[in-house]
Parts: sequence; structure tokens; C-alpha cells
Amino acid sequence: MTNYDVLIVGAGPVGCVLAERLATISNKRVHLIDKRKHVAGNCFDEKHESGVLIHKYGPHYFRTNNKQLLDYLSNYTEWIEGNYYVTCKYKNEYYPFPINRLTINKFFDKNFTKEDEVKSFIESLSVNIENPINSEEFVLSRVGQQLYKAFYLGYTLKQWDLHPKELGPSVCGRIPVRYNEDCRYVDHLYQFTPKLGFTSMFNNMVNHKNIHIQLNKEFKELDRKNYKTIIYTGAIDEYFNYKEGKLQWRSLEFNFKEVKKEFVQKNVQINYSDEFKYTRSVEIKHVTKQECSNTVISYEYPTNNGDPYYPISNLENERIYEKYKSLAEQETKLNNVYFCGRLAEYKYYNTDEVIEKALALYEKITKND
Ligand code: UDP
Repeated sequence: MTNYDVLIVGAGPVGCVLAERLATISNKRVHLIDKRKHVAGNCFDEKHESGVLIHKYGPHYFRTNNKQLLDYLSNYTEWIEGNYYVTCKYKNEYYPFPINRLTINKFFDKNFTKEDEVKSFIESLSVNIENPINSEEFVLSRVGQQLYKAFYLGYTLKQWDLHPKELGPSVCGRIPVRYNEDCRYVDHLYQFTPKLGFTSMFNNMVNHKNIHIQLNKEFKELDRKNYKTIIYTGAIDEYFNYKEGKLQWRSLEFNFKEVKKEFVQKNVQINYSDEFKYTRSVEIKHVTKQECSNTVISYEYPTNNGDPYYPISNLENERIYEKYKSLAEQETKLNNVYFCGRLAEYKYYNTDEVIEKALALYEKITKND
């Protein structure tokens, strides 16, 4: 295939979903490229040399409240129940995280049994801040000083190399606080993991005669004049050659370690707020449910070098991003280039959220077809 209708830059969740929709529903010829050697973006999973399936770029706990989205993805995968349980280690004790009744009872040596008791107790701890403007204020206004210091401050300093005061409220605001004993990491209605992994799901999605995938391929190697429409899912500042300044991104380094035991941890993820350079240890086998006699633990070290992972939510970055956003709007109008996804919109989206974004963009692009 040489004569394409659309170029899609990036074969992560956004690129794969748009490629699939454009190819199957709109019968477009799609050129899908990625500079990495695989599809699935940061959802990529593969067998480690030990044979254990790992999430190479950090754990992805798929969840959604959107039944239609789940049904759509079910065309490409079967699912297994998502077992997303996280504990936080603090002063040598393990606590359920997000904070819930069990966390409160253990931390404060209480014996609450009812939700309203926990609610009023947490309210008595919380600091009265009406409109929190940063992550510190947000957490203090929800759970007060002691829990903030135990579970949020140290972890956030490591994760971002910034004080929670310097981060927008939405960063720590992603984490719920519960009054019941629900120990699941997230609240969503549907919490499932692709049975054979994310890579298999995205490979199935883009396996279509109208989609030509080229891996190890850089955008700049291509002649843009050959495409009527371009969908760009890479970093927005890179697209514009950093002319409005560099956006800051936080990255991660992973140290994967095989252990010749069936399991090492009690649950998939342990967060460390007061020890180690790494933020968390992840044993993804608890989620993938792979049956094997060995296991792999991954230790995550946040860093400012490496691939862009997390947009850093603060005023300066927001200011720079707004400039890129208006350049992007111009680019869409003048040259039919569309920007979508975590990197292109500089926004901390979860996997289900970026897929929703991709489906919405598909509707927008094709509404006049
Ligand atoms: N966070 C924290 N303590 C924890 C877990 C998370 O303070 O034990 C904060 C931290 O700033 C983190 C943010 O909450 O970046 C969002 O956490 P989440 O687990 O959603 O991060 P992700 O899995 O996307 O890295």
C-alpha cells in the first residue's frame, strides 16, 4: 500500500483505535507508524526473559465506567477480572491504599465499624481549605496532616521531584478516600484486564488490510505532503520544534527482577512513602494471573530523563501548553493535522479516557464524510 488517506503518528491506544475505526468503518487507507518497535504504546506488555508477562512501561490497570467502550474493546480481547489492590508501606507496616476504614483503624488504632463514624473522624482531621489550589492543600483538606505526611508527601516528592505544593490539585486528587472497607485501587464499574494482554488486544485491533503498520519509523522520515490527514499522538512540544519552550515531563526507569517463587508480594503493588529511591514495587502476575512457578517484580524509579510519561501539572507548564494548543488548533484548520492523547494534549489521561478521546476524534473527523 502506498497511497494513503491518513497518517497516524504513534501506535499507542489512540493511534490503534483511530486506525481501526478509519479502516473498518470509513474504509480509509491508513499508514500507522511508531518510533518504537511495537504497538500498544505504554500499555505494551511482553514476556520477560524469565517467561513472565510484564508491563514494560509500568502497570496498566484497565477500568472504565463506559459500557460501550468496554463492548468496543471486547471485539479484540477476552477479559479477566481486574485484581487491583495496592498497599502503602509506612514505618514498616502495610496499609490498604487508597485510604479506607481499614487504613484508618490501623493507623489510628481505632475500631470503627460504620461509614459515618469514619467520615466524621476524617472530617475532624481535615484542614479547612475551601478551594485547594495545589496537591498539598487538596490532601490536607480531605484527610489532614498525619495521613498527608504518612502516605502522600514522601511518595509525591519521589514521584515528581516536586513538593505537593508545586503540583496542581488533580495530581493527588486522582486518588479516592473511602469510608468503607473497599480495598480496590479504583472505583470504576468495570475493572478488567485483557486476558492475553494489552499488546495482543491492540495487535488484534490493527490487524486489517487497510492498515499498514511501520514500526521503528520516525515521523520526520516521512514526506507530509503525501497525506491529506495526519493524526499526531506524540509530544506536542516536539511537533512544534519546542518553539514555545520545552514542556516538562516526568519519566520512569524500571528495574525488573526475577524471583524463583510463585509470588513475592501479597498484592500487585506496594507504594513506599518513607524509604527507598523507588516509589513502588509491582508484581503484575497478580493481575495477569499467569500460571508459572516464578515471578517478576518491577521497581520504579522516577526520573527527569527518558521518554515523556507524565505531564507535570503546574502553572508554568499550563501556560506553555496553552500556546501549543492554539498552534495546534491552527494546524488542524490549515493542514488537517489532529492532536490527540496524553502526549499531544499534555494531560494525565488513563487508558479508558484516551480511548474515549480517540473515539470522539473519529466522530469529529468523519462527521462530514
Ligand atoms: N500518590 C501518593 N501516594 C501514593 C500513591 C499516589 O502520594 O501512595 C500521589 C502521587 O503524587 C501520584 C498521584 O498520587 O503521582 C497519582 O497516583 P497514581 O497511583 O494514580 O499514579 P500513576 O499510577 O498514574 O503513576
